[in-house]
Amino acid sequence: MRLVSFAVAGEERARFGVHLGAHVLDLAEAPGWEEGWEQAPASVAELLAAGPPGIERARAAAEGAGDGGPGVRPVSAVRLLTPIPRPPKIVAIGRNYRDHVREAQVKQPDLPKLFAKYAGALIGPGAPIVKPTVTEALDYEAELGVVIGRPGRGIAQADAARHIAGYTVANDVTARNFQMHDEQLTLAKNFRTFAPIGPWVETADAVPDPGGLAVRCWVNGMLVQDGTTRDLVFDIPYLVAFISTVIDLEPGDIILTGTPAGVGYVRTPPLFLRPGDRVRVEVEGVGVLENPVVAEEPELRFPETVVSAID
Ligand code: MG
Repeated sequence: MRLVSFAVAGEERARFGVHLGAHVLDLAEAPGWEEGWEQAPASVAELLAAGPPGIERARAAAEGAGDGGPGVRPVSAVRLLTPIPRPPKIVAIGRNYRDHVREAQVKQPDLPKLFAKYAGALIGPGAPIVKPTVTEALDYEAELGVVIGRPGRGIAQADAARHIAGYTVANDVTARNFQMHDEQLTLAKNFRTFAPIGPWVETADAVPDPGGLAVRCWVNGMLVQDGTTRDLVFDIPYLVAFISTVIDLEPGDIILTGTPAGVGYVRTPPLFLRPGDRVRVEVEGVGVLENPVVAEEPELRFPETVVSAID
């Protein structure tokens, strides 16, 4: 089941529901949705926090929706947003595919390398990635996103699956000149629009083997990344266990699991994103996320002293 956030014409607020193919079901408008909860979930994150009973309520509503009726809207009449607009955390992992470690000629880490992406960088499917004026090294990273349902800390690897509500598709957009300048990744990874995630959260029941999914990226129709989660240095149960020894995991948290080989900066010649490009990321069995690239307007520049230090 595909959980979505979306907006309708003339409104700014995010609605949430289930993607049914040609239609979406607005769960808040589904018959009887408000009944039987202490407080009815009003977002994807709140639905995930309600646990398996919440997921089953959503599934029953979706099965009862058909192609019409209360809350059912054509997909063409809504704008899909990133499915969890304000996740408590986005925990990202670097250097987590063996083929990417090889191509980047870096050491394979002994422990997962964590960094943070912030909610302010999130965009949904179709929304533009804005190329900052201060980088000519704008890069893509196709990634599987793991979405937490059940909260926890100190989670055992064997229990990790019980804490995972579903999966999504992400592009860990990066300004490589900032990455190369700074041992920390926060700047390079958090420019506005640098976290395209979506188009939905595919619930875990629909993804029986997350350890064997193809992860691909195309730029302007050219296949540039073609990896598989089989190649992960640290697999998903290990990541959930490791992260949760340090950071309490909460419903709606998203773990970005790293990117396979084929990123732009290691290619010969390098392939960096330019305004007018289209980036398409696919995770097999989860979904496809496509975003155009546009120029920053109005141009926002760092002071010349900073620019010369970065470049
Ligand atoms: Mg990454």
